[in-house]
This record gives sequence, structure tokens and C-alpha cells, in this order.
Amino acid sequence: MSIRNIPLTRPNLMGNERRYVTECVESSWISSQGTFVQEFEGSLREFLRANYVVTTSSGTAALHLALAALGVGPGDEVLVPDLTFGATANAVIHCGATPVFIDISAETWTLDPKLINERITSRTRAIIPVHLYGHPCDMTPIIDIAAQHRLFLVEDCAQALGAEYQGTKVGTLGDVGCFSFFANKIITTGEGGACITNHHWLDSRLRLLRDHGMAKEKRYWHLRPGFNYRMTNLQAAIGVAQLERIAAQLEHRTRVGNRYRARLGSIPGLTMPPAMPWAKCVCWLFTVLVDSSVFGVDRDELARRLGCDGIETRPIFYPLHRQPAYGQEGTGSTGYPQTELVSAAGLSLPMPFADHYAVDLVCDAVAELA
Ligand SMILES: *Cc1c(COP(=O)(O)O)cnc(C)c1O
Repeated sequence: MSIRNIPLTRPNLMGNERRYVTECVESSWISSQGTFVQEFEGSLREFLRANYVVTTSSGTAALHLALAALGVGPGDEVLVPDLTFGATANAVIHCGATPVFIDISAETWTLDPKLINERITSRTRAIIPVHLYGHPCDMTPIIDIAAQHRLFLVEDCAQALGAEYQGTKVGTLGDVGCFSFFANKIITTGEGGACITNHHWLDSRLRLLRDHGMAKEKRYWHLRPGFNYRMTNLQAAIGVAQLERIAAQLEHRTRVGNRYRARLGSIPGLTMPPAMPWAKCVCWLFTVLVDSSVFGVDRDELARRLGCDGIETRPIFYPLHRQPAYGQEGTGSTGYPQTELVSAAGLSLPMPFADHYAVDLVCDAVAELA
């Protein structure tokens, strides 16, 4: 027992964040007009090598905006992995459509391409692969299925800014890529998000819907019932400062991941997170599976004991199909064994933003309980 205090994550705001935010306040450009929004969209476009970037007020707003811009609506079905944060499915429901859940693959903990075909119906409109915990989905078969059935592909990249699938940044592999800049994501703007696309027609629709559906040439003339999903200049100011340091931050996350692997990889009963040879992962949170029959204690007990040691951890997401919000699901499915397994055994360990010392303390504490 000790008096450590190691939080799961904390945003790193040690660059120009304060300076740029002060600039917004001093110039009084604090809403969604002002130069930082354009600058942030420009930097993000460059980083992702994408044609168009439309920033939003959150990652959930980005997902909702993307689906709305693609025309997803009542009666439509959208394929979503059973293991993800609920916002992925909520965005579908807010369009009036139905999320249809698909089990994950054991190899990547993301949407299993082999299970997609059996869940496609005449109502299916889109697939949302989620690059969970910064590991890219196996996109080639997913892209092929989407093309074959004329389905839209919306990538949920909320946890995966900077990850690459066979050399291409995630977010640019489908029709729209959606990012989140919540405080615990790869980069943050406090709350915030973005839609990325290479289609000009989609860029225009995303911008129209983001801004109340008002015509660009004629103010207060509404072409569509849109939303107010704009990012503020204050948020974008933080985002610009974050992107200035993204290369170093991604390297730091990789080093933390490698250190965890080196120290925990050989402990019996612990499974390290996926790392396929074709994937360039970003280490969002370092998540291990605890096999209680081999490791000394089960996942929940490990979490409890680390908590007593001042080390914050987080269990993996619950399977969506079992949750009250998504109760309509369950028909025609063959079950979700992989999601159940990973969900019951997965525990995320802290991602300290600066020091490696904290990683070693966590590893010592885990090893002691093995
Ligand atoms: C964080 C997250 C979101 C939602 O982003 P917010 O910015 O919090 O609205 C959506 N999907 C996944 C997988 C996430 O992790």
C-alpha cells in the first residue's frame, strides 16, 4: 500500500495552449468565427493528408453529422461493432436509423469482417468500423463489402488519430472519418471533433448541416433543418497548439506501449493488446486481458487492488447489445462471444503523458499481484 496517485490519463497542455486561448480572449473571438478554426482545420488536413476537414463541437456530433450528411434516416440499418463506446450507436439512433451489432475479431478487437455479410439486409445503408483503442480495423475486406453492397463507410476514429492501415491514415479510407478531441483522446480541444472526407459534395453538405442548414449565399435562408455543431475558436486554439506537438506525443505513446509490453508481456494470464503486422497503432490506452484462471486474480480484483495502490484503471466497454439503451437488438444474431470475452477480461492501464517512472510503478504493482 502506498500513496501513489497515477490517473488513467491527463491532457498534456504544456505547449502553446494557454497563449492561443489568451489570444482568443484578448481579441474577443471566442465563438466559432476567428482564425484558429480555419488554422486547425488546415493543420488537421495536412496531418491526415485529406482533402476536407469539417470541425465539430464533439466526436458524437461528428458521427451524427456524417450520417445525416449521407442521408441515413428512419428505416435504415447501420452496422456497428458490439464493442465500442455507446456514442457510435447513439449517433445512428439519433438519425432515426437502427444500429445492428456485429461481433469483434479476436485478432484486432474490432469489427470482424467475416461476420458482416450475414447481417446485411435490404435496409442496410452504412458500416461504422471503429478503430478501437487505436488499433485499425482490417479495412480491405470491409471496403470490398461496402463497395459490393453500395454501403457508405463511416470510420469512427475517435481513439485513433494518427493510426495507419497499410500506410494510409485511418479516417481517409471510407466516405467520412470521424474524430473526437475530448480531454482523454489522442489530442484534445476540451470537447470537440471533426469529419474528414475526400468528397467535395460531402464537404459542402457537412458544412451546410453543421451551420443550421443555412445557405452560404443567403443568411437566414434554410435549405435543410440543420444543427449547430460548430467548433469554437477557443476549442480550435487548443487544438492548434496540440497539433504542433503531435509527432512527439505519438512517439511518447508508442514508447509507453512498448514499455508495458516489455514488462508485462511475459506474465502468465495477461494478454497484450492487438498489434497486427499491417497496422500502425496509436497507443490510446494500454488495455490488457486478464485470464483469472492463470493470473492470480480476476480483472475486477486486479482493478480494485491497483486502485488501493493509487493507480486508476478502467474496465473495457460493456457489450452494446446487452445494454438497456439498445434493447431492440438481438434478433437474427449468432451471439457476440468475442465481445463478451474481451469485455469481461479487459482492463485499461494508465497512459501517463510525461514520465516513464509511472509506467514502471504500474508494472511493478501488476507483477506483484501475478
Ligand atoms: C470518445 C468517443 C466518441 C465520442 O466522442 P465525444 O467527443 O466524446 O463526443 C465516439 N466513439 C468512440 C469510439 C469514442 O471513443
